[in-house]
Amino acid sequence: MPAMGSRDDAIDPLAPIAVRSAAMATSQDSLHLGPLEKVYLIWMVGASCDGCTVAVSGATNPRVEHLLAGIIPGLPRIDIVHTVLSMESGPEWVANLFMAERGELDAPYVITWEGSIMDESLAGDGFWMGLGEDPETGRQITSLEWLDRLAPGAAATIAIGTCATWGGIPAAKGNPTGAMGVMDYLGKDYRSAFGVPVVNVPGCSPIGDNYIETAAAVLLFLQGVAPLPEFDELGRPAWLFGETVHRHCPRAGYYEEGVFAEEYGAKECLVELGCWGPVVQCNIAERGMVDGHGGCMQMGGICIGCTMPGFPDKFSPFYEAPPGSLVSSNTSRVVGGFVRRLRSLSLQDKNMATQWERDAPSGWARSRTGPRGAAKVVHRFYEKYQHSKESYK
Ligand code: SF4
Ligand code: SF4
Repeated sequence: MPAMGSRDDAIDPLAPIAVRSAAMATSQDSLHLGPLEKVYLIWMVGASCDGCTVAVSGATNPRVEHLLAGIIPGLPRIDIVHTVLSMESGPEWVANLFMAERGELDAPYVITWEGSIMDESLAGDGFWMGLGEDPETGRQITSLEWLDRLAPGAAATIAIGTCATWGGIPAAKGNPTGAMGVMDYLGKDYRSAFGVPVVNVPGCSPIGDNYIETAAAVLLFLQGVAPLPEFDELGRPAWLFGETVHRHCPRAGYYEEGVFAEEYGAKECLVELGCWGPVVQCNIAERGMVDGHGGCMQMGGICIGCTMPGFPDKFSPFYEAPPGSLVSSNTSRVVGGFVRRLRSLSLQDKNMATQWERDAPSGWARSRTGPRGAAKVVHRFYEKYQHSKESYK
């Protein structure tokens, strides 16, 4: 690639970004707090639908544009080498990878891998994932070969989406391509040039903010301004994937009171329609999909476990109640049903101001009344007990 690495290419907008970027760097480029002024983000793809790219382009916290502009305090500027978003294409795009491999980039690079790894040894005389050609021999180079060549020198390797993390849909039963995740392929002993194992941000598609936030946290570590954040035993950011969907689901209160939706569009808990939320680690219920909005249960959908290593086979058939839910939802129906009735009794009392003896003076059609008969007696005792520990009397 003699011509591609030349600084004479710097004014050509279609020249490799690694060439243009190095030529444009100046000593005034000192907006950044850390020792790294910029980092290349090399975004590679395997068996992917580009959904992860779409998800990340919608991230807001921070926005991709802010990373590219280098305006986030403490973070280096990102120069992106992306199969879809880069300006250059063909040999000029691939030249960036050759430069990275030869150590000719003027800054460290981070690999982000989208899509499953497919086993090229099963491809016979062909290949599953081609990405550029050898300029001298014309030989097709595969994406997987690039991962082999670039992963050892990468500052970090981040797998994005469930295909790249655990194999995902391409690795479902049958799996003719031998699809697997990046961590499966690189192995547990893999460490980046900065000593970081594979970082996994699952989801099908993932929440864009989950990726950007994780990448930003890794960059702060690479900058030397923050410790490596906590990852769990599967390389997931622990602060994002430590909780189940169910714990933060807006419908969890219905589950607890034993009230379940019988059809889509209803507001109650969706477990009997096939929701796996109680046993799935995902933060969409509290984070939303884009800019805090959307998310599966918020939009009326069940959780099908798309962030989990067992997805999709271990969560199918979709849209049927998980077998384990029969025990838990029926228990909840009995216990929660009892608690719900007690709460409804309490609610009746709490909706009465203390000066209203029998009825609320409401002009609305359905006049509120307080508890009567035995319920009233129970409330008297309840109230006495509630205030029995107060120091003032
Ligand atoms: S809809 Fe799913 S996640 Fe939400 S409360 Fe019901 S079972 Fe839990
Ligand atoms: S709630 Fe379930 S289906 Fe929805 S994004 Fe999370 S893991 Fe995937």
